[in-house]
Amino acid sequence: MTDPRPAFPRGTILGYPRIGRRRELKRAVESRWSGATDAAALEATAADLRRATRTRLAELGLGRDDSSIPESFSFYDQVLDAALAVGALPERFAALRGEDGSIGLDAYFTAARGEGESAPLEMTKWFDTNYHYLVPEIGPETAFALSHDRFARQVAEAKAEGFTVRPVVVGPVTLLALAKATDAAPDGFDPLSRLDDLLPVYAELLASLAAAGADWVQLDEPALVSESLPVTPEALAAAAERAYEVLGTAVDRPAILVASGYAQLSPEAWTALAAAPVEAIAIDLTRGSQPAPAPGLAGKTLVAGVIDGRNIWRGDLAGAWAKLDALTALGAASVSAGTSTSLQHVPHDVADETALDPRLASWLAFADQKTVQVTALARGLAEGRPAIDAEVAEAAAALADRRSAPGVSDGAVRSRALALTAADYDRGDYADRVAAQDEALGLPVLPTTTIGSFPQTGDIRRARARHGRGEVSTDEYEEFLREEIARVVTLQEDLGLDVLVHGEAERNDMVQYFAENLDGFAVTQHGWVQSYGSRATRPSILWGDVSRPAPMTVAWSAFAQSLTDKPMKGMLTGPVTILAWSFVRDDQPLGETADQVALALRDEIADLEAAGIGVIQVDEPALRELLPLKRADQPAYLEWSVGSFRLATAGAAPATQVHTHLCYSEFDVVIDAIAALDADVTSIEAARSRGEVIGDIATSGFAHGVGPGVYDIHSPRVPAVDEIAELLDRAVSELPLRQVWVNPDCGLKTRGYDETVESLRNLIDATRSIREKVGAPA
Ligand code: GLN
Ligand code: ZN
Repeated sequence: MTDPRPAFPRGTILGYPRIGRRRELKRAVESRWSGATDAAALEATAADLRRATRTRLAELGLGRDDSSIPESFSFYDQVLDAALAVGALPERFAALRGEDGSIGLDAYFTAARGEGESAPLEMTKWFDTNYHYLVPEIGPETAFALSHDRFARQVAEAKAEGFTVRPVVVGPVTLLALAKATDAAPDGFDPLSRLDDLLPVYAELLASLAAAGADWVQLDEPALVSESLPVTPEALAAAAERAYEVLGTAVDRPAILVASGYAQLSPEAWTALAAAPVEAIAIDLTRGSQPAPAPGLAGKTLVAGVIDGRNIWRGDLAGAWAKLDALTALGAASVSAGTSTSLQHVPHDVADETALDPRLASWLAFADQKTVQVTALARGLAEGRPAIDAEVAEAAAALADRRSAPGVSDGAVRSRALALTAADYDRGDYADRVAAQDEALGLPVLPTTTIGSFPQTGDIRRARARHGRGEVSTDEYEEFLREEIARVVTLQEDLGLDVLVHGEAERNDMVQYFAENLDGFAVTQHGWVQSYGSRATRPSILWGDVSRPAPMTVAWSAFAQSLTDKPMKGMLTGPVTILAWSFVRDDQPLGETADQVALALRDEIADLEAAGIGVIQVDEPALRELLPLKRADQPAYLEWSVGSFRLATAGAAPATQVHTHLCYSEFDVVIDAIAALDADVTSIEAARSRGEVIGDIATSGFAHGVGPGVYDIHSPRVPAVDEIAELLDRAVSELPLRQVWVNPDCGLKTRGYDETVESLRNLIDATRSIREKVGAPA
């Protein structure tokens, strides 16, 4: 700590998208997985991508040799990168290690994707984002040791190209806090208890980075902001204090930037980091506010996350400047400008969106534009605020233009929202609805249904793509969809399902279809964002007041209903999920935007009813994932999110059966919210532990219809009749018979037809056997 370290640059981004401007990494890894290309080809593509990123970031104004360019590449996931670097490869994959114990790229992919009987690492959402990371497994037996040298190799690779980059590695506290205990661990084992064993390996990793030429390293510690982890903020802060005491006093290391992001650091963690022997701390000033003064800052750089890493809006540079300015009062050695998080959550470049309305495009900033905003602020810090007058004025003009543009505020939408009263959110008495629905629908006990989508075959995807390219006329495409619907309806009748669906063949995903049909949304051509591994989504942009120019789903549902006497379930995506999976406007509270979407859906539901649809499902798989990280923010969130669902559905007649569907059901966490949705029937994913979910429902006292998924749709495995029957048996023994529905975990769109038909046949057979057992007509 006595030798002088190179100063931290005046501006930086905390990370950059790694999938490539045209998803080159996706294609390269998937062709490696299929065996079409070899490891060397993949390595070469990855090296090209890394070089393109460094070169681009230097073009955009980050320094080539001052550590302002983050080295944040990952083949699959940054948490997996760190877990395997320290040797946390689960025992079931041990045979994949090299002779010297090292973990190569093939082993890395196998841990991510599984192989034969060996299940992959579990995947779950990264904080409150749509990115999924792989959950490390750590137990008392995990032998930490440096097991791959990718981080150091990338630093050296950059060096050889003339760049001094700043490697980005998930920090030790976050790695352990996000880990789950291995199966071998005793009950109640806390991975964080292994911190002292892990730190020497991190110290070794830091030494290897220094040896490769890194002046700075960024250790990402977003766990230190969360109040939603099993570990308390106090325990996390204590772990951070310990970790950075040890790493900070390691003799041989680069300067350390500890980066938080995603929200405000807990006060305990802030105090601990401020006092720790590290050189810089990055804080989120978009979702967090200026922290309190803390001892120990005098020698440190504060990297102020003033440019939002998670939305696609051009930032307000004057506002950002004011935050940088205010931060100087904390007495740190220096203040640098930064993004609030890695830019992995936004697409590459607005300039690629040639089909977007230029006026809308001028309000946007993707990763490249955000980098430019950061470098402008950095120049202001170096040369004084007048040096960036032009940039500040330009950003202000774009914001003003956005505020005044037609469509951003729509008088009719606004007055309708203003006129809402409590009655608009209330469907009335549940018992009355049950009676009306029993009469209208006449369903058997243990009604069977699916979650909505049927397999999206290559034919469907090709037809959609050809229609998109104009190679197939709309008439032809719609005829194709009707044939597809007819096929799916016949199949369901043959199988003997009770409530049918049209199969969602017209939708590419749950949100874009609605975004394309609603005013206030725009869709991008290249706005891909990594969801997990090689998967990316293209979120729509919700930029203005939302309204529905015309019915969106009615023609498909009505056509499907015309083919059958069984009830046809209309399928909509709920307001919370539409918001969660889009880039949402940041100029009004989310709750107001959600209510606008809800009103559009409410009109759609009225039109579905008028077209003779008596069962309508409004999917809210994202209800849990938007739950704020801070407990204090959760009640307000639940209030508006539940409210928007109720607003969307409360216009439905008592005889109309409203369903909802939720994925990733940590049922116990959001049970009150689920009950407050007041849907008539809720289907929930129970893949991980079915028994537990049934038990949770029973103890919660939840009294409406409920379909805990009886089989996992994430794998092609066909569930046996006995297996499903056993679950149903448990469900009917713990819950009142009239409450229980039978359905798979989630939509079937990613499955093939062979396994789908077999699985549904087994589901029906199992249902019949349980109906018989409980003495109901089969
Ligand atoms: N209705 C959607 C489907 O069946 C629900 C998908 C989801 O919950 N993610 O595909
Ligand atoms: Zn689902």
